Amino acid sequence: MAQSVVIVGAGIIGAATALQLAKAGHKVRVISAGQPKATRAAFGWVNASFFIDDDHHHLRAAGIAAWHRLATAVPVSVTWPGCLCWDVDVEDTHAKLRAFDYPVEILTKAQIAAREPSLKTVPAQALFLPTEGAAHSPDLSGQLLRAAQDLGVQLISNVQVNGIAMQGARAVGVETVEGLIMADQVIVAAGTGTSALAQTVGAQVPLVSRPAYIMRTSQQPPLLRHILATPEGEIRQEPSGQLLMPAVLGHQGDRSDVLTQTPVAAADDAMMRLRRLIAGLEDVQWSETLRAERPVPADDLPIVGALAEGLYVAVLHSGITLGPIVAELIAADITGSLSNAEAAMLAPYSPHRFVCA
Ligand SMILES: Cc1cc2nc3c(=O)[nH]c(=O)nc-3n(C[C@H](O)[C@H](O)[C@H](O)COP(=O)(O)OP(=O)(O)OC[C@H]3O[C@@H](n4cnc5c(N)ncnc54)[C@H](O)[C@@H]3O)c2cc1C
Repeated sequence: MAQSVVIVGAGIIGAATALQLAKAGHKVRVISAGQPKATRAAFGWVNASFFIDDDHHHLRAAGIAAWHRLATAVPVSVTWPGCLCWDVDVEDTHAKLRAFDYPVEILTKAQIAAREPSLKTVPAQALFLPTEGAAHSPDLSGQLLRAAQDLGVQLISNVQVNGIAMQGARAVGVETVEGLIMADQVIVAAGTGTSALAQTVGAQVPLVSRPAYIMRTSQQPPLLRHILATPEGEIRQEPSGQLLMPAVLGHQGDRSDVLTQTPVAAADDAMMRLRRLIAGLEDVQWSETLRAERPVPADDLPIVGALAEGLYVAVLHSGITLGPIVAELIAADITGSLSNAEAAMLAPYSPHRFVCA
């Protein structure tokens, strides 16, 4: 049965979920306090080669497939250049990914040099991950919301939600600074704002502080063909020509809860590493550094599921990889059409794991 749904948050998670719920015939409103900061700042690597456990790998691999389904219906800024990765134990990671049947091969030095002629220092070997993609993340929320609005979704921007309206144990809407907005179903997809909203109904959605900088250059001539995951950092070049990299090494597994450098020092260091790795950047300076808090759950795994009757939550890192699959699963769950296989995909990420811990 069609429901009225209010989604708090217009980042990739809220926007992708709005689109899937509208497709399923629900009446959806998205309320956002401001810019989707994490989505705007993301490096945009869509991958399943980084993972925490087997279930997490399978969800991420399903995320890649969901991106392809999404891209057939909506014009989205995603390309599929594949990744060259040598910031891991190449043999060990190759064996693990092969065991999952994930597309991966080991390239020799000569093969790497042929694929990336601008590399100054070519490693002895690297993983080639041909199915991995790159999203221009600042575009994503807008592209998904426009498609959702074409299906009738209503967007309410620059309005802060202060709490969840409850009738007994059931959520019936959201309290905004401008008054109450009623709904059959509330979905909190508010990134780092999610914990505070859950707390207003006494629910635990524990997130840790994971601030990050991402550095971009101005537009450069074509230099890189793949996403690179290297000991000097993760790097890619966008179709516009801009090169970008997170300022910290190995940013997906980064566990620092504070930034130890100023934005200028962090971007200068990142630029130095970029110049060390890639020819042709000797006179190039960084042109933008963006700071953002990554929405990272306390155990690093996504938190997706019902918190109470009429109240759902979705907060996760790697939201660029996982947004489209998580949105499909949430829409199926709320519509009551979740298959057994889909329920098994969601099961490890229930918010109730923190209540029971
Ligand atoms: C530097 C960096 C690099 C990253 N790189 C990658 C990567 O390479 N690959 C990958 O898969 N993931 C990556 N991520 C993670 C990814 O960006 C996030 O997981 C994802 O963007 C989270 O999306 P979101 O919609 O939950 O949050 P956001 O994009 O932050 O959106 C949150 C929304 O909620 C709204 N909101 C918050 N509180 C309230 C409130 N009280 N009332 C109303 N609205 C509210 C905000 O206004 C906003 O619209 C990266 C993140 C960062 C910061």
